[in-house]
This record gives sequence, structure tokens and C-alpha cells, in this order.
Amino acid sequence: MTRTRSGIIIFEMEGFWMNKIDLTTVQDVTEPNITECPYCGHDEYYANYRYSGIGAYRYRFDGEDAENGDMYDCLKDTTVGKFAYCCNCKKRIFKIKD
Ligand SMILES: [Zn+2]
Repeated sequence: MTRTRSGIIIFEMEGFWMNKIDLTTVQDVTEPNITECPYCGHDEYYANYRYSGIGAYRYRFDGEDAENGDMYDCLKDTTVGKFAYCCNCKKRIFKIKD
């Protein structure tokens, strides 16, 4: 898509993509009804969550890294976004079921 062409052509391109994107049907965030980003074809997407809670971070006296693999287990997460986004182009790609 280029902006050196007329605005009409650009508008038609956006209309074409709009038909491929369904932002009204709610979908399970773990099993969406699409297999890739409809805009760029990327294979990863993200949803926004809010985390809250208090966690302990472990240290070692000898300065080595301590085991902290479970440091987020005590946090509660809440979905705050209504949409999932492409990790590459950041566009909204589907609506998330509450
Ligand atoms: Zn994308």
C-alpha cells in the first residue's frame, strides 16, 4: 500500500482488510478462530492483564542467582483488555471472551 496513489485506493485497501477482521465475535483467548495475524501473518498474539499481589524475591549471600521461578505464583491476574493484539504489528485481531 502506498500513499503516492489516490486516497480512494487506500480506502479500498482498508475496506478489504476490515472484511477479514472480526472484532465483534467474542472468542476464547486460548482458542481463537484464526490461525495467524490477518494483517501481517505473525503467529503470536497477546492480551493485556493486570497483576496484583505481593511476592518474595530470593537472594543468595554468595551473589549467585537464587531460584525465583515461582515468584509470580502468588499474583492474581485479571484480563483488562477486550481485545487480543498481534505481537508483531500491534493491531487488534480479535475480541476476547470475558
Ligand atoms: Zn500482525
